[in-house]
Amino acid sequence: MRDETKAVHTGVYADGSYNSVTTPIYPSSTFYFDKVGVNKGYDYTRSGNPTRDALEQNVAALEGGSGAVACATGMGAITACTMLFKSGDHVIAGNDIYGGTYRLFSQVMPRLGIAVSFVNLRDLEAVQQNINDNTRAIWIETPSNPLLNVVDLQAVASLAKQHDLLTFCDNTFLSPHFQRPFDFGIDVVMHSTTKYLNGHSDVVGGIVIGRTQELAERLLWFANAIGVTCSPFDAWLVLRGVKTLHPRMETHQSNAMQLAGWLEQHPEVQRVYYTGLESHPQRELIERQQKGHGGMLAFDIDAPAERIDDFFAAMELFILAESLGGIESLISQPWNMSHASMGEAGLKASGMSPQTIRISTGIEHIDDLIEDLERGFAAIG
Ligand SMILES: *Cc1c(COP(=O)(O)O)cnc(C)c1O
Repeated sequence: MRDETKAVHTGVYADGSYNSVTTPIYPSSTFYFDKVGVNKGYDYTRSGNPTRDALEQNVAALEGGSGAVACATGMGAITACTMLFKSGDHVIAGNDIYGGTYRLFSQVMPRLGIAVSFVNLRDLEAVQQNINDNTRAIWIETPSNPLLNVVDLQAVASLAKQHDLLTFCDNTFLSPHFQRPFDFGIDVVMHSTTKYLNGHSDVVGGIVIGRTQELAERLLWFANAIGVTCSPFDAWLVLRGVKTLHPRMETHQSNAMQLAGWLEQHPEVQRVYYTGLESHPQRELIERQQKGHGGMLAFDIDAPAERIDDFFAAMELFILAESLGGIESLISQPWNMSHASMGEAGLKASGMSPQTIRISTGIEHIDDLIEDLERGFAAIG
């Protein structure tokens, strides 16, 4: 089966009772035993649930992994991953990862005796220099948010293998439709399903997928032990979203590609960040690693920071909001919104400015999106 077909069918028909074409929601917290020690494979919903299983089988198939565990949030999924480490371990993480991951790694993990070094993963020499005797893993996110820098998955994974380190990839931005980290030797893939996998901005969720059965089982064991597995309702919603992942991603991408090209020509835009542009400095790597470019882009507007509120206010379609990956187009200023906790020095070091604007391109008609941005530019022109 091709991926488009798997998204629609895999895991879906778990219940033969009434020949239902969609997966039933099993809200039941507990499942009865026919006699002690004999049940139908489920006993308690935190540990296992047929609706959640359907989602896990589906996404594991799309990523090409052995098994998955669906969690209550993306951060829950990341927390389950961190359970593979113990006190005294050291982890290397990218220095431009998602803010919530940064907070967990910089403020929570050290309290548990796990040290984290934040390193520019595009610099393999720097990665090598940060590997110590107690280093256990490398945490990668690519492309980065919001400047769309790309990390070479194959290069980092092979360096990690030489040192017996686990590799994790947060694949939220591209989804398995456009990037399959397992193909490059990554061990664990995770998603905030809140974003593209669900795709409709109406649920928060996460999922972790293991390349091997052994890793998948350990992650499931920890997710149950710490209690981060998701509810059957949420699993059902995300599975409903995943079935349309492929046509949605194609539309997000085609809109984003046209917006990026249009913005690049715009006199009031200094620079556009999108992996689909010829001008992206990592063109060769992108073509080797990504099957597409997704819907996230950013640009530096050529206007004083004080005018950006007017730019946003003039728009009627683009919604001023954090988050991403839904069918509606969102716009934001990372400097004062999603990335504010990095502080001014951190923001500047990463290459952002108050003029950096991030777009999560929705699936509306491209002409309406361009007209809306024109309203914004007209207001500050
Ligand atoms: C949103 C996000 C997360 C966290 O997911 P939640 O569902 O908000 O907990 C992690 N990684 C990336 C790249 C994200 O965009």
